[in-house]
Amino acid sequence: MADACLFCRIARGELPVPFLAESVRCVAFRDISPQAPKHFLVIPREHFDSLNEIKDPALVGEMMIMARDVAATEGMDVSGYRTVINTNADGGQSVSHVHVHVLGGRKMHWPPG
Ligand code: AMP
Repeated sequence: MADACLFCRIARGELPVPFLAESVRCVAFRDISPQAPKHFLVIPREHFDSLNEIKDPALVGEMMIMARDVAATEGMDVSGYRTVINTNADGGQSVSHVHVHVLGGRKMHWPPG
């Protein structure tokens, strides 16, 4: 647990951020600055600075399954969506609590830049 970490605080329910889904180990909520018509994040409740620190492959799987399931409830399973994990400076990570971005509701571009 990291007391001051923004996403730890969200996971603990200390901020007025509605969850799209929650489980014992993960929560999903909308991104505050959406980069697509649909943009939400999936995070583990436990603090890891980035993907580099996660040792349990099942936790990564749980994050991705929650991403998939919420994408479906958001109506993106057929039209499609993108999952992204930015890691550290070159990856464009700005919040040091690992998170999966899920974006959709429009056609995504490639390469992502
Ligand atoms: P990244 O740049 O990959 O670390 O992504 C961090 C994401 O967290 C950005 O897309 C931000 O818009 C998002 N974000 C930051 N603060 C909040 C917040 N309070 N609630 C929801 N999303 C947030």
